[in-house]
Amino acid sequence: MINASLKQLSQALAAKQISSLELTQLFVDRIARLNPTLNAFITIDAEKSLAAARAADVRIAAGTAGRLTGIPIAQKDIFCAEGWRTTCGSKMLANFVSPYDATVIRKMESEAGLVSLGKTNMDEFAMGSSNETSFFGPVRNPWDTERVPGGSSGGSAVAVAARLAPAATGTDTGGSIRQPAALCNLTGLKPTYGVVSRYGMIAFASSLDQAGPMAASAEDCALLLNSMAGFDERDSTSLERPAEDYSRDLEKPLAGLRIGLPKEFFGEGCDAAVMAAVRAALAEYEKLGATTVEVSLPNSHLSVAAYYVIAPAEASSNLSRFDGVRYGFRAEDYGNLDDMYMKSRAQGFGAEVKRRIMIGAYVLSHGYYDAYYLQAQRIRRLIANDFVEAFKFCDVIMGPTSPSTAFKLGEKAADPVQMYLSDIYTIAVNLAGLPGMSVPCGFVGGLPVGLQLIGNYFAEARLLNAAHRYQQATDWHLRRPLGLG
Ligand code: GLN
Repeated sequence: MINASLKQLSQALAAKQISSLELTQLFVDRIARLNPTLNAFITIDAEKSLAAARAADVRIAAGTAGRLTGIPIAQKDIFCAEGWRTTCGSKMLANFVSPYDATVIRKMESEAGLVSLGKTNMDEFAMGSSNETSFFGPVRNPWDTERVPGGSSGGSAVAVAARLAPAATGTDTGGSIRQPAALCNLTGLKPTYGVVSRYGMIAFASSLDQAGPMAASAEDCALLLNSMAGFDERDSTSLERPAEDYSRDLEKPLAGLRIGLPKEFFGEGCDAAVMAAVRAALAEYEKLGATTVEVSLPNSHLSVAAYYVIAPAEASSNLSRFDGVRYGFRAEDYGNLDDMYMKSRAQGFGAEVKRRIMIGAYVLSHGYYDAYYLQAQRIRRLIANDFVEAFKFCDVIMGPTSPSTAFKLGEKAADPVQMYLSDIYTIAVNLAGLPGMSVPCGFVGGLPVGLQLIGNYFAEARLLNAAHRYQQATDWHLRRPLGLG
């Protein structure tokens, strides 16, 4: 059961081969045994999880269960969940117990009946690519515990990769679902901006943030996305569209699929062995009937620079709410109100968050706004237009997810620019608001490699189809790290 797919778990629960309580207990025990080494969860509460499992069993017995009712899931600690400590990986919120549910939590747990196993570790306020900025310590990659799992959804990635949970949620502002999925051998999907509600998801850069599923396979991701997506009047950027079944096209043959290969993704900057694995995956797609065509994203080399103006600008504004007054961390000793704000923020935020707040405040300030922020917004438009042009010639764009496999803990921590460059292939997708996936496509030196699939707006079902057919023809996504027990 530990390695079962969501479909298998759903069938086993429906056939009463196992109860949700028994299934949840299996994962609760595994978390207790392995989490001390991996540090994938910040908060676990076995009693709460088992109570939710009992409630799911009641629904199953009453015949009112949905497809996912009773299946355990790990939730990234960026989602407010009623009665759960919700930290966002920060000292600032280390004592915060949420009084309400994020829409994602409400839909997945209250409506679909998924059972929360706990809240997963993450980079502080989702700022990072290695999960090393967490106040709660780094997460270890189960493929090599001296290496990072990627970030910022590193805890979710490791929870699934080490089978501490069958699946998890993540969020992706510049790559935080796809990059850890790639480094941990998972399938992860960042939907089109606006498909999943951001209500109750702690904001980093609101125009880029989007939640999505992280699981073993595309089929599992499709089932999870069905439970997450949908219009929400409490999120002003949520899109009002007819409900979709994201599994509907999974089995469609790939004959005639046009794959666009941006020449900018196949030049310099990527590890040669990673590139070889990506090319082998493309050859597999050709065997499945797809054709490839070269396309160009001429402004993509500007994406990291534009992102590191826009994301910090939005973060500096979003994080101004953490002032030590109504909730969160407050410094012990202070003189007056201003001093209380300053000391609470100085002591409550970590170094990376402070760096972003300072950059953001700078680029938004009078005199610099036009030179930096406005210019970055213009580049963002050019980047989005590049994709519009490219999708005239192809259905799906493919390339590497990350330029390297998992790097060593500490290796890039002292050099922010090196760290920022680990997202060179993922960030443009967020700037354009497009859906993107990462799919396991091989190993280099025992470490997983991810293939990135980028779709046009609302092409989630097509991406999941392309990923699923590839996974039927390969078994990379079924490989599990050994040596964990
Ligand atoms: N690594 C990027 C950053 O540090 C993206 C993080 C994310 O997607 N949340 O901002």
